[in-house]
Amino acid sequence: MQAGIIKTRRFGPYARLVLKAPKIARHARPGQFVEILISGKAAPFWRRPFSICRVEKTTLELLIKVVGPGSGLLAGMRSGECVDIIGPLGRGFTLPGRGGMFLVGGGFGVAPLLFLAERLRARGRQVEVLIGGRSREDLLLRSAIKLTGATVVCATEDGSCGKQGKVTDLLIERLQDRESGWTLAASGPYPMMAAVAHIAAQYKIYAEVCMEKVMACGLGICQGCMVKVAGQYQRVCKDGPVFPAQAVDWNNE
Ligand SMILES: Cc1cc2nc3c(=O)[nH]c(=O)nc-3n(C[C@H](O)[C@H](O)[C@H](O)COP(=O)(O)OP(=O)(O)OC[C@H]3O[C@@H](n4cnc5c(N)ncnc54)[C@H](O)[C@@H]3O)c2cc1C
Repeated sequence: MQAGIIKTRRFGPYARLVLKAPKIARHARPGQFVEILISGKAAPFWRRPFSICRVEKTTLELLIKVVGPGSGLLAGMRSGECVDIIGPLGRGFTLPGRGGMFLVGGGFGVAPLLFLAERLRARGRQVEVLIGGRSREDLLLRSAIKLTGATVVCATEDGSCGKQGKVTDLLIERLQDRESGWTLAASGPYPMMAAVAHIAAQYKIYAEVCMEKVMACGLGICQGCMVKVAGQYQRVCKDGPVFPAQAVDWNNE
């Protein structure tokens, strides 16, 4: 379907796009993604996957990091232009339990966590979002996440914002005096998620991760985006992208 671009904002290598897509907005769940067919000179053949970052009544928002031709073309588009989009795709977070939730994000991986924080807060759940990056400018969506009523805590490797160190060090600190019934969700670079899964197992806290894998069809047909989960190969696009962290075979990549 065609979706009109309502608003765009560029900042550094990133862009935030708001699209008019009532059907997708109505059915989307945090953790799900859309596939966009990008047009223009040097546009890639396959659609490109992007997490749904936020939804309102008839619109959805994407956070895009420019890393190549497709994301570059998309980030350069203007209000009033249209994109060919399909979604919502994949399985989202299950929002387990009734207790509080830690959300751990790195880089553009925070995109689905804004949507998740909004949904959890709308249910009156306590939410603590831990955002990590090399430096302050890598910490994305902090203000938007704070506006959901979630607590935001940051870690940067260069110490330019929040605790100096990795976000996983911050997580270990926060897990020390957590109340019972808390669960965890993570989205970001692969090594960060593998470390979060390990920590969650150590502290016996249920955790889900939102995986990323280079995709072709995005519809579960080509089997190009397989990961090993609970001893079986599963499709990130159809069986995921959200999986129980402890079930992922992190040594298999
Ligand atoms: C489920 C899912 C959700 C995603 N959500 C977002 C998002 O919210 N915001 C965002 O900016 N990006 C997101 N991505 C990554 C995004 O799809 C890729 O960055 C984009 O497809 C790159 O296309 P390109 O044509 O610009 O670059 P390409 O030339 O295709 O790739 C450039 C570089 O990016 C790497 N890359 C390409 N595709 C992926 C991928 N799927 N995962 C990891 N690395 C990739 C390649 O290895 C290459 O090094 C998501 C990916 C998946 C699978």
